[in-house]
Amino acid sequence: MENDLKCPECGCEHVYPDGSLWTCPECGCEWNPKDNAAGAAAADGPGEIRDANGNVLADGDSVTVIKDLKIKGASSVIKGGTKVKGIRLVDGTDGHNIACKIAGVGAINLKSEFVRKA
Ligand SMILES: [Zn+2]
Repeated sequence: MENDLKCPECGCEHVYPDGSLWTCPECGCEWNPKDNAAGAAAADGPGEIRDANGNVLADGDSVTVIKDLKIKGASSVIKGGTKVKGIRLVDGTDGHNIACKIAGVGAINLKSEFVRKA
């Protein structure tokens, strides 16, 4: 399992979070796990947001829209297969938990269940 956080120095598994850093009790090393997926999932946030396939999404991910989506209050449609870069996870009150910008559409919020990680 690559998701288990381990000390990058000695491989110790008894690491614990200390603020935004993780600390290893074995060698005392501290590091920021944000640059890998496991760390992002462990960090505080709106909770785990998963795509249509159950993969955990993170800020900055690229996703693909899996079906045509009607935009509320607009005549345009986001076509299935549209690639969306640099998503931002938000606490969507109505399930629209991904904030992003789509070329030709503009800033919009999507539901994570209608995208998959690119
Ligand atoms: Zn260590």
